[in-house]
Amino acid sequence: MALAVHGFAWPHFAYWRSRRAADPRPVEYRNLLVDSVAGGFWLPLMHFNVLPSVVVVTMLCLNNIALGGWRLLLRGLGVQLAGLALGALIAGVSPPRATGMRELLFSLPFLVVYPLLVGNLTYRLAQRLDTDKRKLLNLSRVDPLTGLWNRAYWLERTREEFSRYRRRGGAAVMVLGDVDHFKRINDQYGHGQGDRVLRRLAELLRARLRISDLLCRYGGEEFALLLLPDTDGAGALAMVEQLRIAVQEASLSPVFPERLTMSFGLAQLDAAVADPAAWIEAADTALYQAKRSGRNRALVYQPPAAAPAAEPRDG
Ligand code: GH3
Ligand code: MG
Ligand code: MG
Repeated sequence: MALAVHGFAWPHFAYWRSRRAADPRPVEYRNLLVDSVAGGFWLPLMHFNVLPSVVVVTMLCLNNIALGGWRLLLRGLGVQLAGLALGALIAGVSPPRATGMRELLFSLPFLVVYPLLVGNLTYRLAQRLDTDKRKLLNLSRVDPLTGLWNRAYWLERTREEFSRYRRRGGAAVMVLGDVDHFKRINDQYGHGQGDRVLRRLAELLRARLRISDLLCRYGGEEFALLLLPDTDGAGALAMVEQLRIAVQEASLSPVFPERLTMSFGLAQLDAAVADPAAWIEAADTALYQAKRSGRNRALVYQPPAAAPAAEPRDG
């Protein structure tokens, strides 16, 4: 009767209990401890028959360590001892009985199949963790409004690109772009409409770039772009000109008739660029000049001409 309860009724009851719990973790933890008590209880009742006893104790320990680490293993061993004491009260203690062929055959499936099941479960859990980790990492790198990379990730990649350039040379161009008079759109049509336009704009820019180029939403209505790999200043300017014209010609919202324009600042990575911050600063300066000189244009950063050396004076 006790065996039937333990073997058939208890697993369903334990499953039902954990299914209906708001937080199944502590319930499963207790279920495992009940399993351990019951496992210990059966040992004296089967007269410590060597192989089944070892199988029961090992499989319970395997369960506990796989799901609760050393802590649950030790607690499990403790309650197994308690169960064993209870069993010994009922059945007494006898010297271990040698395992016969019948018990050996009955033990074999547990010995072979159970560790495989636990191993497979652990493998599947590890895989799921890995997938979840990747998803989370990706989420932490993406701007929620536009789906472009966010500024933090873009900066990380900019630093990497800068170190790569220091090690191996090559060429890369940074582009900062800012929508012209965007505030008017918000003021006239509302913030929601402004957001929709930003999403359309992001799609438009992304569709025109190569897979290796790195586009991010740098801030409100500013976008930043790394043109990679091996793009020189002239090639980059031609490409950004195409972007600028595409923006100017696009109909970004059915609600308003005006066309949007963007200004861009470009900065090529070369030996004069001291660090990633200086690179960004150069692109920002070019963007500022593009704005000041009338907007809707792309300008390449020009380093200030070196101050002329003082004329040597005779005498
Ligand atoms: P310009 O750049 O040509 O000088 O003019 P601007 O009107 O675009 O000026 P600025 O770049 O300084 O202002 C950016 C405006 O963009 C301010 C703010 O109303 C708007 N903005 C910033 N972030 C968001 C956003 O997430 N959604 C929306 N709808 N608007 C934003
Ligand atoms: Mg701005
Ligand atoms: Mg702007």
